[in-house]
Amino acid sequence: MTAQDMKLVVVGAAGRMGQTLIRTIHAMDGVTLYAAVERTGSAFVGKDAGELAGLGPIGVTITDRPLEAFVDAEGVLDFTAPAATIEFAGLAAQARIVHVVGTTGCSADDDAKIAAAARHARVVKSGNMSLGVNLLAVLAEKAARALGPADWDIEIVEMHHRHKVDAPSGTALLLGEAAARGRGIALAGHSVRVRDGHTGPREAGTIGFATLRGGSVVGDHSVILAGEGELVTLSHSAADRSIFARGAVKAALWARDKKPGLYSMLDVLGLN
Ligand code: NAP
Repeated sequence: MTAQDMKLVVVGAAGRMGQTLIRTIHAMDGVTLYAAVERTGSAFVGKDAGELAGLGPIGVTITDRPLEAFVDAEGVLDFTAPAATIEFAGLAAQARIVHVVGTTGCSADDDAKIAAAARHARVVKSGNMSLGVNLLAVLAEKAARALGPADWDIEIVEMHHRHKVDAPSGTALLLGEAAARGRGIALAGHSVRVRDGHTGPREAGTIGFATLRGGSVVGDHSVILAGEGELVTLSHSAADRSIFARGAVKAALWARDKKPGLYSMLDVLGLN
């Protein structure tokens, strides 16, 4: 650790991503774990964050007081749940620190609150922090632009582990947004998120979603462009959560000297 290291807080420290973030920060240069936060009442409060993440003791005790943790920190990495993320967005804005949001399943109202916090804080929010998926989004946008809605249908298929609570995944929606951008339409008015029963034929120009859940799958996504007699499939498979954690740390370092605002991983990766 050096004096120039960016001081980061991990919220939701005991979660699948929280533990991965703690291990990733420990392994990366230029960042240090300044604090780790869990909810009040969690059995992990008071425990050593390194022990929890399988590193052995690192001298950072998990706390349930986020504002105290944020005040002297420089960034917060947040992969929790929408209600918690809204609370952390307000606190990060108050502390004027970088807020990296990986939480998915946020409603339009949640997103409006995060955007309001970004008037004072540097917020990087993305449904997927990996380089591969963000590149896939760029490719999906190009493909959707090139292969028009009259002859080509777009379907997005995703599979995740059995514990995931929101659907379609944030990544599937991110890919749907990219495809919609390519077609010059808004995803909101053109998406088909579920199909069941007698649905009638497919409506041209829509973007369909299909969700699979099971086992320990970290995250598989395919964007399928289906034409008459041919099929193009763009896909990504995540084998390890550390790809999201490394992306989140990269986002925090990138945002360190930026102006307040709401940024995406496409900005961080220079793909915008
Ligand atoms: P998880 O294992 O359930 O972890 C979430 C953690 O946040 C839990 O420890 C939870 O504690 C904690 N938490 C909830 N509310 C809190 C609060 N108010 N204060 C402090 N901690 C709180 O879930 P996960 O698999 O790590 O995923 C977390 C989120 O990240 C999901 O939305 C997921 O979709 C998303 N994700 C995004 C990316 C990306 O690249 N953007 C990648 C992977 C996952 P309790 O168990 O006590 O509720």
